[in-house]
Amino acid sequence: MKIGFDIDDTLINLREHAFHLYNKKMNQQIPLAVFHKLERVEIHEPFGLTEEQGRDMWNASLEEIYYTTCPPFPNAVELLQEFERDGHEIYYITSRPKEHGERTKAWMQALGFPVKNEQFFYGMKDEEKNNIMKELQLDYYFDDKPEVLNTLLNESDTKVFVKHQSYNQNVQLPRISELSEIRELITNVKKD
Ligand SMILES: [Mg+2]
Repeated sequence: MKIGFDIDDTLINLREHAFHLYNKKMNQQIPLAVFHKLERVEIHEPFGLTEEQGRDMWNASLEEIYYTTCPPFPNAVELLQEFERDGHEIYYITSRPKEHGERTKAWMQALGFPVKNEQFFYGMKDEEKNNIMKELQLDYYFDDKPEVLNTLLNESDTKVFVKHQSYNQNVQLPRISELSEIRELITNVKKD
């Protein structure tokens, strides 16, 4: 089976990690409950930042957001290692900017994610993910971002799933809350 994953907020808990960093940097203690109610991907609003300030804050913090202690979601590493052992092909498709691609790949490998060079794609614009998914003929694809998922709604060949987040509740696609649910999906297909 060819299984594709977005990285940020699908496999790793990036926005929450950034939220903690913002609290620290801005000397605030905004509770996580606020984070869990956000209806958009961007996290700057509870900190009283304008759109522009929010963008600047994100870009100025990018090094720390990307390469420090952002945790994978529970079971992410183990699950993907297990899929790899079982002979599935794991693909990573991220919109992280090109200049961060190789470092991100190394960072993922250091965490234990099974990453093959030729199965790791970065610098993908939202609509480009659709093309690469078709080219690769993925059986499954998982992502969190509404703008990406909405471009994939009409694709029938790949089974696309939403990784549940507060800001993607309106996306009309099958969804998973925990990554471990994927194991069941794949195992059931094998049985069919
Ligand atoms: Mg994402």
